[in-house]
Amino acid sequence: MQIRTRLTLQFLLIGSIIMIVASTAIYYFSADFRRDEFYNILRSRAVSIAKLVLDSYEYNPNRILRTGTEYPSKLTDEKYIILSYNNDTIYISDRFWVLHEMNTITGLVNSDKEVFLKQDEYEVLGTTHATGLYKFVVVGAAIDKDGILHLKKLRTILIVVCLISLILFSIAGWFYSGRALKPISDVVEKVDEISITSLHLRVPEGNGVDEIGRLAGTFNRMLERLETSFAMQKNFIANASHELRTPLTSINGQLEVLMMKDRTTDEYKSSLGSVLEDIKSLIDLSNRLLLIARTSAEGPSKYSVRLRIDEILWQSREEIKKFNPGYHINILPDKSLTDSDQMIVKGDEYLLKVAVSNIMDNGCKYSPDNKVDVRFRYSDKWIELIFEDKGIGIRAEDTERIFEPFQRGENAISYTGTGIGLSLVNQIIKNHNGTIKISSQVGNGTKVIIMLPATPCPAQG
Ligand code: ADP
Repeated sequence: MQIRTRLTLQFLLIGSIIMIVASTAIYYFSADFRRDEFYNILRSRAVSIAKLVLDSYEYNPNRILRTGTEYPSKLTDEKYIILSYNNDTIYISDRFWVLHEMNTITGLVNSDKEVFLKQDEYEVLGTTHATGLYKFVVVGAAIDKDGILHLKKLRTILIVVCLISLILFSIAGWFYSGRALKPISDVVEKVDEISITSLHLRVPEGNGVDEIGRLAGTFNRMLERLETSFAMQKNFIANASHELRTPLTSINGQLEVLMMKDRTTDEYKSSLGSVLEDIKSLIDLSNRLLLIARTSAEGPSKYSVRLRIDEILWQSREEIKKFNPGYHINILPDKSLTDSDQMIVKGDEYLLKVAVSNIMDNGCKYSPDNKVDVRFRYSDKWIELIFEDKGIGIRAEDTERIFEPFQRGENAISYTGTGIGLSLVNQIIKNHNGTIKISSQVGNGTKVIIMLPATPCPAQG
């Protein structure tokens, strides 16, 4: 069901409830007022008639004084009966009219209560009247023709007013909800226009203050992020294909040259060795690209495996030195480390090794002495890893973008590399709920600080 229809129905429902409750209350109070008024008149008529009857004749309980209509009537078809204290009928205005509930009336009236009841369309009042020492039961009955008629008219008017107001409520609800939802319809219309090729479009924010304005603002900010991430993705694909094409072109060129004529075994060996290098760098690049895709898709994770960071550092060092024996990686645990517990992190062993290897490798690669110092320490629930080298350093303007894929420092162009490593490290550290910071000075060296949440063993009880 559309929100507009739902709002209209809710509007109608609330309106109907208010109208029905108000009309019922008006009808109920009017009926109550009519009844009170009618009984007041009937009581005063009955008492006046009782006075007239009882005062004009000396009281004789054995005699029915009169049966007739000698008192001018004010109410429609009024009847009066007067009974003595021992229930003898003293006066009856219409002897053909029979009061069925006479016993109830005499019983209750003797206990000094008034009785009101209905007999057919007659409304009957039983009350007492005292003259001298005697007490009499006076019964009055009449039809409240006008009162009932007015009440019926009031009921018809209320029903008609209710029905008309229900129609008005529906119309007003439909227009009102239409107006209230207009800004949303505008947003929906605009959103329909936005596609992958028109991500630069924005939805109208109205005054930007009310709920819909804020929703539109949030939506626009989401579009901005989408636009940026689409642009980054495009860039990423372009850079990745470029990086993949370079070794492929080189392989192609080398093989073509090799095939031009017969070669000596040494020439074949040397060319194939170079091709093998290119293939290795291709494999390395595609592995890193796959890892970036995997880690970005995973996002911050809840790892459960407990790992010792010193072991990760030592094993990474060994791996690097296997392929680069000339690299000097000095691992220097901080003196403050007193417990192996302080070196535990929860994480993915392979990913953490990839991250620290990248930074160790960069430190050695970009330093003339191929040397990097790695310190680690425990501080307030965090494990801090500091990689420091005395290499070429990074320009201040480059430090801001080197965490983006394929971005390289200007002074690093003469070194081999793809610019993928740091963005991968950044993503891995983020996924481990850690942080990474770089401080560097061109010509003076670089310091990379990684903070990872420590996970000491729970205390043994
Ligand atoms: P790559 O080393 O393959 O170029 P990275 O993503 O690992 O890619 O590094 C991105 C850039 O950051 C490098 O090109 C380099 O300019 C700079 N960089 C990273 N580490 C260092 C370092 N220790 N010393 C100097 N420059 C560095």
